[in-house]
Amino acid sequence: MAEAAVHSSASLLASLIGALPMAIAYDGWHAVLFSLTCLLGEHLFSPDLDHNSGARPYRRWGWLRIIWWLYQRLIPHRSPLSHWPILGTIGRIVYLVTLAMPAIVYFEVDVAGIIFEYETVSIAVMTGLEASNTTHWLFDTILR
Ligand SMILES: [Zn+2]
Repeated sequence: MAEAAVHSSASLLASLIGALPMAIAYDGWHAVLFSLTCLLGEHLFSPDLDHNSGARPYRRWGWLRIIWWLYQRLIPHRSPLSHWPILGTIGRIVYLVTLAMPAIVYFEVDVAGIIFEYETVSIAVMTGLEASNTTHWLFDTILR
């Protein structure tokens, strides 16, 4: 397993490299959004949220880390559901949306409507999170 510093550096590199195609495809704002979500992906939304043995992303949640308790019970460490490209990112998003479902229903939040209304922003956020997840998986695999 790669060290946390390696993951942070790799995520920083991915955020810089991925910003260029995002700027070309959309604009500078989307490139910044991609980079920020890529960095946020490793620092707060990491595949390593599947365990609590001192993982920095888990500790960064502070008292809110309680929300990852069930995730850690359901998903074994380095499972495809937490670490594999695309599957890991979607798994964590589905997990958080499921936890937030009572509030989503109560406040009648149209999640799909928001995603489609802000389609390019959603693409920048999702690709940023996925770039972070894939980079994490790549370094976990290489430095096994
Ligand atoms: Zn990992």
